[in-house]
Amino acid sequence: MKFPNKWIVRPAMALFAGIIFLSLFSLPVAAQSTHTISQPGYYRMQVGDFEVTALSDGTIPQDLPKLLTNTQPGEVERLLNFNYQASPVETSVNAYLVKTKDKLLLIDAGTAEAYGPTLGHMLESLAHAGYKPEQVDAVLLTHIHPDHSGGIIQDGKIAFPNATIYVSKPEVDFWFSASNKQKASAGLKPYFESAEKNVGPYLKAGKVKTFEFGSQLFPGITSVASPGHTPGHTFYALESKGQKLVFMGDIMHAAAVQLADPAVTIQYDVDPKAAAAARKVAFANAVKDNYWIAADHISFPGIGHLRAAGTKYSWIPANYSTYITGE
Ligand SMILES: [Zn+2]
Ligand SMILES: [Zn+2]
Repeated sequence: MKFPNKWIVRPAMALFAGIIFLSLFSLPVAAQSTHTISQPGYYRMQVGDFEVTALSDGTIPQDLPKLLTNTQPGEVERLLNFNYQASPVETSVNAYLVKTKDKLLLIDAGTAEAYGPTLGHMLESLAHAGYKPEQVDAVLLTHIHPDHSGGIIQDGKIAFPNATIYVSKPEVDFWFSASNKQKASAGLKPYFESAEKNVGPYLKAGKVKTFEFGSQLFPGITSVASPGHTPGHTFYALESKGQKLVFMGDIMHAAAVQLADPAVTIQYDVDPKAAAAARKVAFANAVKDNYWIAADHISFPGIGHLRAAGTKYSWIPANYSTYITGE
């Protein structure tokens, strides 16, 4: 997701959100504590032997006609209208907790203070779900963008004192390359700085484990290559007792538009062409093999199935349940 600098110059959008967005890192911590999440912020389900809990970091308005790229004239507005939405669209930021037989794994970690007070609520949601940060054994990052890695640091400190951070080698290599940072455009540079801010302290503490795409990280949890949105963007596939759920990170940012037209990309894509190609493959595979998808920017809890109709896709959210199978 993009840094919120833009909100400063767009008073109409700031009004929409009911808040004034300040630039990155300038938001006083006190401002964050005045906003609490309006929803319980978690949703639990069982996938085979694993308990999966979606955690909400909150929502943030996004100006999709401006942010989306490779679009046809009028396409974004038309698809939003078709989905009873209008820009700016309130977009979810989700993280996912996976309880295995002996480990507690967090997949992505939300934003902390990086995007202002409507986001940064992942730890609150974790508490509502009945867990403490100290219990988390590992944080698996789909990529290092600050809306996914921001939450591993809270108030400048390591937020998960007992956790190892898992992130793909290509992702670390890209964001921690001095020459990439030096070459980066002014728009991309802050992402290098946020990578240092968020992942740097864990690297220094020797608490980052990199892996090659395709490796099994824990029993039943495998990394899957999905480069494009970022060079090391990773899916995590969970498989247990014949059931499968794939955590897809930033496979899409605007479901209403990108399900109907997977070729549409977003300014946040480091390599938009590769991101669109990865999305098409991911959508096709999910339909072919009928597995669950969880994605960080699909409307919370962001867990469901895809259905194909020609070149378009539709989203079938998980059927709401008030009990956990197996309990
Ligand atoms: Zn994201
Ligand atoms: Zn991203």
